[in-house]
Amino acid sequence: MGMGDRLAGKVAIVTGAGSGIGRTTAIRFATEGAKVGCADRDRDGLNTTVEEIQSSGGQAVACEVDVTDEKLVEQMVAETTNAFGAVTVLYSNAGIAGSGNAGDLTLAEWEKVIAVNLTAVWLSSRACLPGMIEAGGGSIINQASVGGLIGIPGIASYAAAKAGVIGLTRQMAVEYGPLKIRVNAICPGTVPTPLVEKTYMEKGGFAATSAAGADATYEEILEGSAQRYPIGRLGMTEEIAAFALYLASDESAWTTGAIVPIDGGFTAA
Ligand code: NAD
Repeated sequence: MGMGDRLAGKVAIVTGAGSGIGRTTAIRFATEGAKVGCADRDRDGLNTTVEEIQSSGGQAVACEVDVTDEKLVEQMVAETTNAFGAVTVLYSNAGIAGSGNAGDLTLAEWEKVIAVNLTAVWLSSRACLPGMIEAGGGSIINQASVGGLIGIPGIASYAAAKAGVIGLTRQMAVEYGPLKIRVNAICPGTVPTPLVEKTYMEKGGFAATSAAGADATYEEILEGSAQRYPIGRLGMTEEIAAFALYLASDESAWTTGAIVPIDGGFTAA
């Protein structure tokens, strides 16, 4: 992909930039002229993303962080701000799989998924707000999921966290709209990544309830899932990154509080 300028002058943080959707989006943001703070707890994944950006002439800094840690999240914003200036785009994308029906989860399993997939989203936003307010505005993009919109068996904690992200998105959109900080959520359908493999193959996970049956291979489950999408296939990380790019750019200046499924028609069916 060639260089563009849709994010020229912007400083962005992408959490979960060491893999999957986050990596693709961090690279895309940099390709469009943003200076990117790439945040992840996985140092190797992070380094791969940052090297890829830098080797194609983009600007990025690696922030090794557990996004559930309040202090490290503040540090992530400080490191990016020190390197590039005030952060005006935040993509809260880091997340983990969460398998199990409501009745089968332990409290520890529940709390872990809520901490990473919901509390960390709020922590990251809170840490970016002062800089965005001072800069006169910004764009916060929260990663929700189709699982936050409709019931899907076997992902109770994940669905609750993602529905919480949707509530936080609407709430912050009305709280910070007057300060020109836009807050939107993306709800992806299935995009094969390491997280999806974990969700599908984990004990008690989606495989147990999928049409393909409990003994199905990962490929068979993906194949079965694709048939439930009106577009007839699963998504690609590039297709989520493209929408995140729109939300990060000034092209979406009048878009806030939007909860947007990017899901091949899954939730319309
Ligand atoms: P992925 O596993 O490929 O990437 C997630 C990244 O987040 C990893 O690099 C991981 O190290 C990082 N991460 C996890 N916990 C962290 C923590 N505590 N601190 C810092 N980094 C942490 O997964 P993905 O599919 O690219 O998922 C990205 C986001 O998209 C997640 O929020 C996920 O819930 C959401 N999502 C994915 C799909 C899908 O089908 N892939 C669908 C809907 C929503």
